[in-house]
Amino acid sequence: MKMAKKFCILLEDDWEVMGNGLGNVAQLQYLPSLFLMKTLKKLGGTMTFMVDVVHQLRYLQSDISDRNLRMQSRIWEENVLLMKDYGFDVQLHLHPQWFEAVRTGDHFLLGNNWNIGRYAPELQRKMISEGIDYLENLIRPHYPDYKVIAFKGGSWGLQPSETLFQAMADKGVRIIMGVRNGLRLPNSGTDYSNIEEKIMPYYADPSDIRKVSRKKEDIVIVPQPEYAPSIFPMISLGIDLVKQKLIGRDDTAWYYQEPIPATIKSLSPLMDEKKMQFSWNPYRTHLKIGNQPFYYLKSSIDSIIKRLRDYPERRIPLVMESHTKQFLAHYKHIEAFLKYILDAYGDEVEFLTLSQYYRELQQDPTVIRQKN
Ligand SMILES: [Zn+2]
Repeated sequence: MKMAKKFCILLEDDWEVMGNGLGNVAQLQYLPSLFLMKTLKKLGGTMTFMVDVVHQLRYLQSDISDRNLRMQSRIWEENVLLMKDYGFDVQLHLHPQWFEAVRTGDHFLLGNNWNIGRYAPELQRKMISEGIDYLENLIRPHYPDYKVIAFKGGSWGLQPSETLFQAMADKGVRIIMGVRNGLRLPNSGTDYSNIEEKIMPYYADPSDIRKVSRKKEDIVIVPQPEYAPSIFPMISLGIDLVKQKLIGRDDTAWYYQEPIPATIKSLSPLMDEKKMQFSWNPYRTHLKIGNQPFYYLKSSIDSIIKRLRDYPERRIPLVMESHTKQFLAHYKHIEAFLKYILDAYGDEVEFLTLSQYYRELQQDPTVIRQKN
């Protein structure tokens, strides 16, 4: 039997258009996900796409005589089936701000509550049921064993958690991601200060998901490991941002050919995170790929592996967040980074899908943290 490697990278892509509703499925979802899938196939890696179903259902419920919207929702469906055809995992992501989106011209005006935890219990239940039923109905005719078992909180929002977790558990969700120690978004009500388990999967106390439960729960949280970049990766990030500003790219706007309403542009309950990035406090984040340069990405994995290599666990999950919608100017960097991970750490690191990881947890649930 082959020995399991010390680290399993759970690469998960939050597959979606922009949080304020702007963007085109072909550009922000289809093409970058195709790139990511082909790159991983070439390198021998795997991953999970966490697909935002609320957006797709809103498109499908809109005027289907609009060929532009219809085409995008068809691409969406074919794209999800392609992910499965290529051997990747597809799981659930929900951006509740789409739930009551109103169409104005070619734009959708989205809600301002981005945290599903803050919705009424019956709306949470409706979004979760509709989302899971739609995904399973789409995929099962082709892959009869397909099941939704994992969820990633849209905009990391999972609090308050009690009714949310109950509704998830009732529909078969067993793994939830989006928790990272120290992440705080006061405007949307997210507070992961001082979580009790920062690395290993844990049964969360549903009344406070920062705490490890005293009993076995239906839901297991797989936290995202922290990363505090030192000065050099931050400088590389800064230079890259300036470079992009100089090029003056704003591609997502090109497909409208009409002014974007100011109400849409200003819609961003996540401004807190952006502000934090440029404050003088030490910046803390997590493993992620999107619009970062290679040097920054390389530093992130180097730092985390160095920190956890001697951690006394024989198998450590490393959730790596991806946003394909941000890839556009960074394809080269992302490919180089994924190749670097396997070249530099291939002996101790492997990529796993969430369904594979879930099976591992079922085989050995003792690795899941629980208080005595
Ligand atoms: Zn998202």
